[in-house]
Amino acid sequence: MRYEGVLTKMSTELTETVQYYLVFEADFLNVNQILDKKISLNFLRYQCLNCGLQKKIFRQGYCYDCFSSIPQAGSWIIKPELSTAHLDEEDRDLEFEKSVQLKPHIVYLANSSDVKVGVTRKTQIPTRWIDQGAHEAIEIVEVPNRYLAGITEVALKNHVGDKTNWRKMLTNDVKDLDLVEVRDRLKQFIPAEAMEYFLANNKETEIHFPVLEYPKKVKPLNLVKTPFYEGILKGIKGQYFIFQDGTVFNVRGHEGFVVELGI
Ligand SMILES: [Zn+2]
Repeated sequence: MRYEGVLTKMSTELTETVQYYLVFEADFLNVNQILDKKISLNFLRYQCLNCGLQKKIFRQGYCYDCFSSIPQAGSWIIKPELSTAHLDEEDRDLEFEKSVQLKPHIVYLANSSDVKVGVTRKTQIPTRWIDQGAHEAIEIVEVPNRYLAGITEVALKNHVGDKTNWRKMLTNDVKDLDLVEVRDRLKQFIPAEAMEYFLANNKETEIHFPVLEYPKKVKPLNLVKTPFYEGILKGIKGQYFIFQDGTVFNVRGHEGFVVELGI
């Protein structure tokens, strides 16, 4: 079978084992069903997720011109503490920024290799945790806007990491931690403005990924350097395909790439 389309990050569903879907314009594929099968990836061309033009992808699936101008790629996306919609101040498009930033946000702890702190909109739980390949996660605060979440994250970063070690995540070199204990220990560092939003009673969410076999070492596939690859799919974790030979493919890192997928 052949599928052709522009890659976007996989949709997911938290069931006993996470279900993954590749969604193309005219088709979708439950990736769990092709585990243990030989699949091929063939990079055909770029297609910017915003303008649709065949231009080199710069970041987040966008060409350079779109990345530099559209509100969906403002710097407050990566750095929530730069959010200003709560002050009625525009970055690129105030209406858009209000529609995203002035919504309930969660600051959380997620453990994908070591525990890290992160921010997401409440509606993105547990999607965000799955995308990071976290096998356990817990909420710390639920605040009414992105700015408050951002300053809380900045304060907590001084006491816990904020990066995922994707090599450890993909080789399953992970620890099982008591996130309730970590949350309670970090409470004292929450900024005063956000303290009333502390969530004292949440429990850990456990996430199980569809992986038949973890590799001992991983090598990332970059479709710019290697436009064709073929291998046996042994698992899916985070937004990565894991192949039998240790090759790992970051689907999200290839948003805006038009590929032909052969099964
Ligand atoms: Zn574009």
